[in-house]
Amino acid sequence: MFDDTIVAISTALGEGAISIVRLSGPDSIEIANKLFKGKDLMDVKSHTIHYGHIYEPETDSILDEVMLTVLKSPRTYTKEDIIEINCHGGIYITNKVLELTLTMGARLAEPGEFTKRAFLNGRIDLAQAESVMDLINAKTEESLTVAMKGVDGRVSKLVTHLREQVLQVIANIEVNIDYPEYDDAIEMSNELLKPLINNVILELNRILEVAKTGKIIREGIKTAIIGRPNVGKSSLLNKLMREERAIVTEIAGTTRDVIEGFINIGGIALKLVDTAGIRETEDLVEAIGVERSKQAISEAELVLLVLNNSEPLTEEDRLLLDLTKDKQRIILINKSDLESKIDKSKLNNFIETSMVEDIGIEDIEEKVKQLFDLGEIKTKDMTYISNTRHIAKLRIARESLENASRAIEMEVPVDMVEVDVKEAWIALGEILGKEVGDSLLDELFSKFCLGK
Ligand code: GDP
Ligand code: ZN
Repeated sequence: MFDDTIVAISTALGEGAISIVRLSGPDSIEIANKLFKGKDLMDVKSHTIHYGHIYEPETDSILDEVMLTVLKSPRTYTKEDIIEINCHGGIYITNKVLELTLTMGARLAEPGEFTKRAFLNGRIDLAQAESVMDLINAKTEESLTVAMKGVDGRVSKLVTHLREQVLQVIANIEVNIDYPEYDDAIEMSNELLKPLINNVILELNRILEVAKTGKIIREGIKTAIIGRPNVGKSSLLNKLMREERAIVTEIAGTTRDVIEGFINIGGIALKLVDTAGIRETEDLVEAIGVERSKQAISEAELVLLVLNNSEPLTEEDRLLLDLTKDKQRIILINKSDLESKIDKSKLNNFIETSMVEDIGIEDIEEKVKQLFDLGEIKTKDMTYISNTRHIAKLRIARESLENASRAIEMEVPVDMVEVDVKEAWIALGEILGKEVGDSLLDELFSKFCLGK
């Protein structure tokens, strides 16, 4: 448990709505009490909310009318005493309240420090803490649902279950090592350990298979819209955005990222690379040259290459077709409402679109799902492990177990098999934050927004 009390504004800074100043730590209640006119907070029950005023003790002037929530340790987010002051005033007032808590002895929280405390105080595990961050950054309903499952511990449960199975393998090996006089020792490892290990490998395979989808749901697909001038790139972009496919959930307390570049296609966020470029300069290829287009292409996971139905293919079109041939790409023959002059026999696997007559948008959606093997996304009843760090650890666990399995087949002594199995055990533990070094923690939590 920590001996200092941290404070932050835990809602998005802005005019209008209520903002919350949140304190966590042993002195939270005392600090708030010194600034609060209303009930004596030292006497109130936990999980109660109180009406009153925040005032400046020095000048005895009222600053804001507030609702103040008292949450006492240990049944709180951080397991510490927490005070939440719901301020009504705007930015100035909220900052003023924050400042007052600082003068009374609170310390400004670092980004993610509330969640870090929740983790270090044993309230949540690391996988859950990371999911809080994913939740904050969620760009679509689907990514939100996936993150929620991480927060409520379903991912952790899955990993814990795997860990238990691995532990059983280790326990069996230990028995084997401790009682080598059992003459059927080798047999035991083959007949007992191998199926145990293989079961875990199978489960890991299954999880890693759906993890691919999870990662796409979580992070979106980096997408570049390219094509020579005037083929209809901006029209496509505007169409996709105007149709409010760009459902971007901004949860209170999130940073106000530039959200313009996100399109939601059937629950998948397409992250548009260089959207600003397309918008500001009108024509990517012309204005910034082939080099930048090449770069946009190379960075993209998906390329939407727009061609013009009403003109024959040009040199530039051919160049772009060539540059993108090894990419996941969707060729759009736009302006299909106009008389066709393009030679379609030279192209395959294209979608005909018209931004004027609203043709082909759904086909793009289908194609994206097909290209990335997404099928129907069932966020409701599937637990996706989507975090890149978690996926990496799961891969290590699988590799270690595969090594162990091979070692058993080669009748390697069990204590050497155990080395591999323990590696899997450690990798899985690291997902939950068991035995995690300080520097990793600092890095993970610094990515949070302030006040979380
Ligand atoms: P960009 O330079 O590739 O971004 O192309 P724009 O989106 O700015 O479009 C260039 C011109 O083509 C504009 O006048 C659009 O209205 C027009 N345009 C775009 N898409 C279509 C389409 O599907 N059919 C027709 N007839 N015109 C289109
Ligand atoms: Zn344009």
